[in-house]
Amino acid sequence: MDQDDGDWDFDPFLTAKDHKRIQLEALSRRPTSQLSPLELFKLVAASIALEKSIPAVLDLMEKGRFIDLDPDFLEDHWTLLERQGSYFKGNPAQRSRLDHLKKMRDYRDARSGKVSMSCFKCLDARGEFKRLYETRSEAVSSLEHRYSESGVRLTVYECKHKNGWHLTKA
Ligand SMILES: [Zn+2]
Repeated sequence: MDQDDGDWDFDPFLTAKDHKRIQLEALSRRPTSQLSPLELFKLVAASIALEKSIPAVLDLMEKGRFIDLDPDFLEDHWTLLERQGSYFKGNPAQRSRLDHLKKMRDYRDARSGKVSMSCFKCLDARGEFKRLYETRSEAVSSLEHRYSESGVRLTVYECKHKNGWHLTKA
């Protein structure tokens, strides 16, 4: 007799998913001020309580808070928010807040087309959010790349808000 036969009805994957949803719904009943940035993004990603989770997330981003979604999400903040297109269609005020944040964020690296991260606390000389590197070695390799491409000498320093690393003119 095969003892595993009885297990075919058991779907641990679905159970885990349901369990997660129940947890998120419990979170959504708490005031947003009691939730961590990551918890707020989890609500947004699961389309739960968007009428309060999205404005709360935008508040954090406007305040310049760097929100680390790793390793819970593979996508970035913008992708997770843009997925809620129908919410933003019905909430033009929140849409324009998001658009404003996007305008000020990361600019594209013309060469690689890669979107870089920004520090929402530090501004560069043009008044845009400063490009942020998660690790010192990432910042150093960008510095070396910039020097070999354009001869510009830059130096690495740690973000004073402890968000990561920045480059500045040497
Ligand atoms: Zn910074």
